[in-house]
Amino acid sequence: MRKRELKRTGMHNSDTADKNRLPGGEYRFTSSKKETVAVNGVIFGGQGIVVIAGPCAVENFSQLSETARMVKSSGANMLRGGAFKPRTSPYSFQGLEEEGLKILREVSRITGLPVVTEVMDTRHVELVSSYADMLQVGSRNMHNYPLLKEVGMSKKPVLLKRGMMATIEEFLYSAEYVLLGGNENVVLCERGIRTFENSTRNTLDLSAVPVLKSRTGLPVIVDPSHGTGIRWMVPAMAKAAVAAGADGLLVEVHVKPEEALSDGYQSLDPGEFDIMMKELDKIAAAVNRNIFGK
Ligand code: PEP
Ligand code: MN
Repeated sequence: MRKRELKRTGMHNSDTADKNRLPGGEYRFTSSKKETVAVNGVIFGGQGIVVIAGPCAVENFSQLSETARMVKSSGANMLRGGAFKPRTSPYSFQGLEEEGLKILREVSRITGLPVVTEVMDTRHVELVSSYADMLQVGSRNMHNYPLLKEVGMSKKPVLLKRGMMATIEEFLYSAEYVLLGGNENVVLCERGIRTFENSTRNTLDLSAVPVLKSRTGLPVIVDPSHGTGIRWMVPAMAKAAVAAGADGLLVEVHVKPEEALSDGYQSLDPGEFDIMMKELDKIAAAVNRNIFGK
């Protein structure tokens, strides 16, 4: 396993030129080293741009297996789907929990797509790890330090989403928690932040991509689905993310978005996803990259 070198640095007085130094200066990423994160053969942070696709939530076997089959045929590399859902309203669908994890595992076995799913609670890290190939820490939990410490002790790679109200420095400190726990396999995900703008669900901060990539060697991916909250905007922002240097995308796709139990209005249908993937090939080529596996 790669050994990440974490340097203790003192408070420097005139070291502002060191853009890798985090405020407070207690620790810093050794960003000069390019990092890759492998999830069952899928490599984040290399030449290939990793596309993770799937529904917001696992709803039942046929919904997930059908969606997975279609996104795979369009070139997706990994499958997503929430089994434990962080919903704003306690009355909204909360996810199938362990039943959803079992469906994810089974669909992964059938399609060969590795799966990423969210873990919201320290008490569930072991359970979710026993089914998932990658653990997602969601936006609402980016500041949940006990959870970050717990996934830091896990052997599973972590997809860490930026808090909707978090600065990039806070985001990096959260990644630091996971790394310090001994888990070096962290992928960062920009998913939009809250601003005064209300034409979109969130404001997708694509400038976070070059900032993060200049400050850390960790792979950086973008979620244009939560980033915009509006289906027709997703392909444009996915293409912009690739052009901006993202190492991957997390995209919500539902076999029937109009029937989705969560986030249907921002989910692509498989046909729209297929068109987007073809367009992404051209953008990737323009920045000397390719979609992973193509
Ligand atoms: C998700 O990806 O399913 C999700 C809930 O996203 P976020 O944590 O970014 O809101
Ligand atoms: Mn969602």
